[in-house]
Amino acid sequence: MRRPLVGKQEIWSRIDIHSPELFELSDWIHDHPELGFQETEASARLSARLERAGFRIERQLDGMPTAFRATFGTTGPTIAFIAEMDALPDIGHACGHNIIGPAAIGAAISLSEANPPLPGRIMVIGTPAEEIPPPVKKRLVEAGFFKDVDLALITHGADRTAVGGETLGIHALDIEFGGRAAHAAAAPDKGISALDAAVLTMHAIELLREHVRQETRIHGIITNGGQAPNIVPERAALRYYLRSFDSDYLQEVRARVENCARGAALAVGADVEIKSLGVWDSRYNVPTLNDVLLKNAVDASAFQILPVSERTGSTDFGTVTRTLPAATLKVALVDEGVAGHSRDYERAAGGERGHRCLVLGAKAMAATAFDVLSNPQLLARIKREFAEGRAAQPAAGGTR
Ligand SMILES: [Zn+2]
Repeated sequence: MRRPLVGKQEIWSRIDIHSPELFELSDWIHDHPELGFQETEASARLSARLERAGFRIERQLDGMPTAFRATFGTTGPTIAFIAEMDALPDIGHACGHNIIGPAAIGAAISLSEANPPLPGRIMVIGTPAEEIPPPVKKRLVEAGFFKDVDLALITHGADRTAVGGETLGIHALDIEFGGRAAHAAAAPDKGISALDAAVLTMHAIELLREHVRQETRIHGIITNGGQAPNIVPERAALRYYLRSFDSDYLQEVRARVENCARGAALAVGADVEIKSLGVWDSRYNVPTLNDVLLKNAVDASAFQILPVSERTGSTDFGTVTRTLPAATLKVALVDEGVAGHSRDYERAAGGERGHRCLVLGAKAMAATAFDVLSNPQLLARIKREFAEGRAAQPAAGGTR
């Protein structure tokens, strides 16, 4: 029987040895931001490094060119580390996804070097396009790429070190209006403005906002505002995100938003078509897993440890957390209160702080995988907690 603490220290020293290379990789991805589904170089560099370490690589998962899966070992429980890669338009890696992949491969490669080998399989799943619809991890879950996974872990930057907390479910909608074009000065009476229907929909949603539950978020943009000022707009379109912690309630909000669009179209005499861009699930937490992950982060010298923030967004990792035991380690990439998707956040992700968080994430995730693989009772307990908690919830999408 191996003594767990000794093993963990060995794995951590492997991460330290690999760290200069991991920093270089993270900085390169940071300085060459690639948008969702275009993470060609990041995906190639991450998977190539894993291949060099003896992992078997599957590329283009479910036909997505930048999605990959790397596996080491053939038997035993499977731990997957998730690698997000995509950047945001204009502000680059302002969500810090450049550190996520290197943290995942740092943990995975160091575990694969354990001697004697650990009794389990180590996996890295490269998941594209976290920032844009549709929800890719949901697609990968549905296509079976998480079927053999017993436990999944991810590191993500934040304004604190923390585990747990909730994320918002989302319904993303494209609302398209069709009118009738006509000369805007010479024959406005012959036209039907699709833009009028869009604007009226936005007003109706503003009024609806007063009568939804407090934690609901409704936000949208005009994606097509017409063709030219001298033409009555023949086409106009909106893109809206509806968010709530409660997936059932979100269905209700969606039905009311759709009625706003239909009512506005009726008032104007336009046509309306509503398309779903996908549904993101809210997060499901397994307390024992979260506790182990946080304890390992503390042991690995985590800093700025705070209770989880009430302010939250959404992630397609939500679906993973509702499918199998999974957890996110938030690492303190920025000072408390600094917003994600900001210039300050982007700078931190490419600097010293990014490096520090990368190592912390890799160590905490690797140690958690080590704990679970070297202690079958712990894995059994986590699985039981997950199964019992999920069974107590409604199926489809779930609710908190
Ligand atoms: Zn992110």
